[in-house]
Amino acid sequence: MAPHRDDSPPVPCAAAGQKASTASHLLFRSFKVAPHMVSSGSGIHLRLADGRSVIDACAGAAVAIIGHGNEEVHEALLEQARKVSYVHTQAYSTPVAEELANFLLDGRPHGLDMAFFVGSGSEAVESAMKLARQYHFERNESRRVHFVSRRQSYHGNSISALSVSSNVARKVPYQGFCYPHVSHVSPPYAYRYKTEAETEDDFTGRLLRELEDEFLRVGPETVIAFVAETVMGATSGCVTAPRGYFRGVRSLCDKYGILLILDEIMCGTGRTGTFFAFEQEEGAIEPDIVTGAKGLGGGYATIAAMYVHERVIRALRRGSDAFNHGHTYQAHPLSCAASLAVQKIVRRDDLIRRCRRMGERLEALLRTELAGCRSVGDIRGRGLFWAVEFVKDRTTRETMDPALSFGGKVYQAAFERGVAVYPGAGTVDGVRGDHVLLAPPFTVTEEELAVVCRVLREAVESQEKLYL
Ligand code: PMP
Repeated sequence: MAPHRDDSPPVPCAAAGQKASTASHLLFRSFKVAPHMVSSGSGIHLRLADGRSVIDACAGAAVAIIGHGNEEVHEALLEQARKVSYVHTQAYSTPVAEELANFLLDGRPHGLDMAFFVGSGSEAVESAMKLARQYHFERNESRRVHFVSRRQSYHGNSISALSVSSNVARKVPYQGFCYPHVSHVSPPYAYRYKTEAETEDDFTGRLLRELEDEFLRVGPETVIAFVAETVMGATSGCVTAPRGYFRGVRSLCDKYGILLILDEIMCGTGRTGTFFAFEQEEGAIEPDIVTGAKGLGGGYATIAAMYVHERVIRALRRGSDAFNHGHTYQAHPLSCAASLAVQKIVRRDDLIRRCRRMGERLEALLRTELAGCRSVGDIRGRGLFWAVEFVKDRTTRETMDPALSFGGKVYQAAFERGVAVYPGAGTVDGVRGDHVLLAPPFTVTEEELAVVCRVLREAVESQEKLYL
């Protein structure tokens, strides 16, 4: 599909396709590459300032779960702005923040008793790490200082969140500067870590033995928490755990008094087909702390959440009586209003069920469209959260030459054809996670999914012709 052009005049913009202006805010990306300037969004479509229209097949970064430009959410934001835009939570709360917490944790699902709203995923992970530490402090277990997490994980860019992450590329300038009491175990990434001789249960058993060995190596009485994405997102690409893995993780954590923090910033809030991704794991596990973001505000405002189990709250009540942590903009009324409006739409329109149904369709389309693509090594995911991993050789699973940035090239080729996917996050632990990720809005139609998958195939084929 050629990039669609509409008739209305493009919005003038200095940075579109030109050198970024000196006053740009884009400190975090290559200074040499100008961004695509977006002038508006509607549903799954983004309109660029140069007049092109792009299908946002990754909802930004798995954020825009109800699509762009929803007027009900605009109204809710305006209504809240008219009431009050900001209060400091040291002394105040607002009905909208209370309503949002109650709406999300109605009936205290899985023992999750309280929500704590912050501005970003990284802040939510920082909060979770600090709360976990304070939990042990309240129980006179202050020698617990260590976190165990997994290789090829991503938990955020602030120092503590980056420390538990294992995205090597993002850590390069910060070696020696990260929190030191962190170690990493193998991820449940079957395509790369399971041997051919192993059954799924063997693989689960091996991963759990490795985790227990790591607890024992560092001394389980010094471990604060095990931190894991329920479905691994940006770094390894939609990796789901093998059967029984999280049940085993929960029981190991219980055995040694270690907390379980599940990071659902990307995979939660309905994205994998249930509100919490862990609800689909065997064994009705109850994590101690869960983080969520992205779909929570659907992109209409910046908001993330930390959901806390009642047993952690109980320790706080018995001890210091408050979490020793806070941010100026936490539970921001406008963010809460946007989030509440988005989540009410999701519930009213049964969009999580739709996410599951459309996810099945997306999987089927990906498998048929990409069946003949020799660079496609693995297609994996859950709900509307799918990754396509590229390899040089499908039989040996040899990775692409990192210098080639094949995933990035596929991303470019798809974008030029009018579809935006999410490129993989580069080299990790010596294994290049060369993939693209798809995470469209839950409102996506079958026709749109068909276009996305066809364009993705054309993009992959175009790059295979050039580089394989
Ligand atoms: N955890 C996970 C699992 C994530 O995917 C991300 C963002 N991609 C973060 C944490 C960090 O969130 P943020 O970018 O909002 O700080």
